[in-house]
Amino acid sequence: AVVTRFAPSPTGYLHIGGARTALFNWLYARGRGGKFLLRIEDTDRARSTPEATEAILKSMAWLGLDYDGDPVSQFEGASRHAEVAHTLLAAGKAYKCFATQDDIQAFRDAAKAEGKSTLYHSPWRDAQDDTHPDAPYVVRIKAPRDGNTVIKDAVQGDVTIRNDQLDDMVLLRSDGSPVYMLAVVVDDHDMGVTHVIRGDDHLNNAARQMMIYNAMDWKVPVWAHIPLIHGPDGKKMSKRHGATGAEEYQTMGYPAAGMRNYLTRLGWSHGDDEFFSDAQALDWFDLGGIGKSPARFDLKKLENLSGQHIAAASDAALQRELIAFLNASGGDALDTAQLTGLLAAMPFLKERSKTFPELLEKAAFVLSSRPITPDEKASKHLDLVSRGILRELTPHLQNASWDRDTLETVLNGFAEAQGTKFGKLAGPLRAALAGRAVTPSVFDMMLVLGREETLARLNEAAS
Ligand code: GLU
Repeated sequence: AVVTRFAPSPTGYLHIGGARTALFNWLYARGRGGKFLLRIEDTDRARSTPEATEAILKSMAWLGLDYDGDPVSQFEGASRHAEVAHTLLAAGKAYKCFATQDDIQAFRDAAKAEGKSTLYHSPWRDAQDDTHPDAPYVVRIKAPRDGNTVIKDAVQGDVTIRNDQLDDMVLLRSDGSPVYMLAVVVDDHDMGVTHVIRGDDHLNNAARQMMIYNAMDWKVPVWAHIPLIHGPDGKKMSKRHGATGAEEYQTMGYPAAGMRNYLTRLGWSHGDDEFFSDAQALDWFDLGGIGKSPARFDLKKLENLSGQHIAAASDAALQRELIAFLNASGGDALDTAQLTGLLAAMPFLKERSKTFPELLEKAAFVLSSRPITPDEKASKHLDLVSRGILRELTPHLQNASWDRDTLETVLNGFAEAQGTKFGKLAGPLRAALAGRAVTPSVFDMMLVLGREETLARLNEAAS
């Protein structure tokens, strides 16, 4: 069975690159009935914080990336990691190196003077135990000296590294603590990880991690190193290009489904498909569809997909997401009347809304109650003449049957009788009903508000 994992370092918010890595691993596992695990790589004690872990968990929850079991703390596994180093030591695949910093520096200076590689070769690699001094040491792995290490990468193909470019990497520091590279390999092995999908900034690490797999005679997982996300200018995505934190997109009001769709497409493709559902993504996602060159972040595309997902969502689901969005942004909870109105208006509110705030802006007419305070632009539509027209209009609506056809007939007939077009009436009506100059269609608003509320608002604005 497939087991994937996401292994963030809790040193800050979840970067969209990290979110995409998590998503790819989630899709790959969930699409195959496998497991998706979470490991918090908190071995860097100075930079890891519980707040960062919280932020990462929160963004993953928003994106719907559920994981199996409890998150694993890498730091808590330190003794197990050290144990593996000792196993290698006992097997003669690693050795104690007593070289001091000065020794290493002297080696490098000499190598440099001779124009040779400055990669450190420890004299302790082949020393006998009985020659060991009673002094601090690090444990180094015996790196292969000849030949090549070939990483079979599912995205990059075969990546060959000459072994003479690998040094005898330290596994345990002189205080006995394991290094990160060892921790990753032991954890991936112990967690039964079968596929590792991660940023290609880890490709160099893979060659070194491979040494540990080989020395332990462990099966190497399938590695898929994905190109990093670039900005529109082709440089590595950074704050200059826009928001880089997943949580910022949540705050901006992109629906999680739209963000998932967009991030899935960022570096992975399935023919010409752009807009797709989670079910399709789970069905289609594979390693073969991951591109070899960096994907460029494109906000327009995110907005477009986001709008399509808002339009495609069921009214009830959208209602729930909007409530969650408003809660998260610290706004007042909606009352029953607002909730009812919102749901009634949802079929047209969700058309052409790229984000939740855009949708909520259109929903202003149903979220606000009398007295409706027109904003600056709307006020311009409520001058003396317009108010007079609204006063004349209301009797015509008093007994009209409240359906779209009748309302259109009444309003168009009224406009004609006034010697004008409906378009001229629309401004004052929008201002009266919503307090805004830009609103959904006047008829849509009237139908959702109902006769009584519509007349009350028109009368209020006209007086
Ligand atoms: N902790 C690493 C990072 O956040 C990921 C390591 C891995 O996936 O192997 O970049």
